[in-house]
Amino acid sequence: MKYTKKYMQELFHYINLELFDNMLDMPYFNVSNYKYTYDAYGWCQDYKGNTFVGIDKTNNPADFFTTMVHELIHVWQVQNDKPMNHKKEFKKWCDKAYEIFY
Ligand SMILES: [Zn+2]
Repeated sequence: MKYTKKYMQELFHYINLELFDNMLDMPYFNVSNYKYTYDAYGWCQDYKGNTFVGIDKTNNPADFFTTMVHELIHVWQVQNDKPMNHKKEFKKWCDKAYEIFY
C-alpha cells in the first residue's frame, strides 16, 4: 500500500469525526521512513503553534491506522494545552477509540 499525505488527511477526517467530534484542527502530515533508524512507528511534534504528525510507511494498513489514532490523541493533547504523554487522559481516548473502531 502506498501511503500519501492525501490518504493521511482522509484518515484524519474520519477519525476526527468519529472519535473527536471534529474538535481537532488538521495537523501537518508526513509519510516517514524512520522505523529502521529510530524504531518508531509514528511521531507527533508541536513547533511554534503548529502540529506535525508523521506515520511510518513501513506500517501495514491496520498499524498505520492505529498509529494515526495514537498520534491524533497527542494532537488533541497539544491543541488542548495538555502535556504530551501516555497517562490517564491518553488511556481514556484509547478506550473510546477501541469502542468505536475495533
Ligand atoms: Zn505516543
